[in-house]
Amino acid sequence: MTYQHKWIDGSPVDLPVGKVVCVGRNYAEHARELGNEVPTEPVLFMKPATALCSLDAPLVIPRNQGAVHHEVEMVVLIGAPLRDASEEDAKKAIVGYGIGLDLTLRDVQDRLKAGGLPWERAKAFDGSAPVSGMIDARGVSTRQNLDVMLDVNDAVRQYGHTGQMLFPTFPLVAEISRHFTLMPGDLVFTGTPKGVGPLEVGDRLAIRLGNFLVTRTEVV
Ligand code: ZN
Repeated sequence: MTYQHKWIDGSPVDLPVGKVVCVGRNYAEHARELGNEVPTEPVLFMKPATALCSLDAPLVIPRNQGAVHHEVEMVVLIGAPLRDASEEDAKKAIVGYGIGLDLTLRDVQDRLKAGGLPWERAKAFDGSAPVSGMIDARGVSTRQNLDVMLDVNDAVRQYGHTGQMLFPTFPLVAEISRHFTLMPGDLVFTGTPKGVGPLEVGDRLAIRLGNFLVTRTEVV
C-alpha cells in the first residue's frame, strides 16, 4: 500500500511524502491524564514515511501488542523547506491542514518509558499515522480556534480545540525547524487533547477538524 498526500476532494497533492514530526503533551489536560509534567519546551518525536496511511481506508491496528490508543491531532502539511525559520516563514510554508491519529501502543510505550528507552516501537510502526485529506491552507482562517474531535461509536471520546495548544502552530513549526529541517511533503502532528484511550476492532470512528473536515473509518 503506497501512501500519497491528497486534498480533501481526493485529488493528489503534488508533493513527495516525507517524515512526520509529532509533538507530545501539547495540551495541558492530556499531559496530566497520562501523569506527565506540563512541558516548558515542545516534546518532539518522529515517525517515518512508512507510518503514513489514509483515513479513507479501514483502520488496521496492531494485534497482540497490548492497548492501541487513539490520539486525534490537527496535522499540517509543509510545502517549502524550513530551517531555523521565523513564525512568519512557518506560516507561509504551511500549505494544508488535516486531521490524523497518532496511534500509540500504550503498554509498549509505558514499558519503554519505565526503562528510559526510546519510544519508536510504540509510536513509529507501519500504519501508526493515519491521516485525512488536506484542506488548502488558504481556506483556513482561524487556525487557533479549531475543534479537534474524535467520536467512537457515536459518542464523543476526545474533544479539544487548537486554542488550547501550549505551543501554537506557527511558533511550534518554527521551533521544530531549529532542530530538524522540514522539507516539502513533511507533516507535523500538533498534539492531542485529553481523552485518549484504546481502540477495539469494530469501532466506528468520526474524526473532525473545525466545522469543515469530517472523516469516518472503522477499525479492523
Ligand atoms: Zn500524539
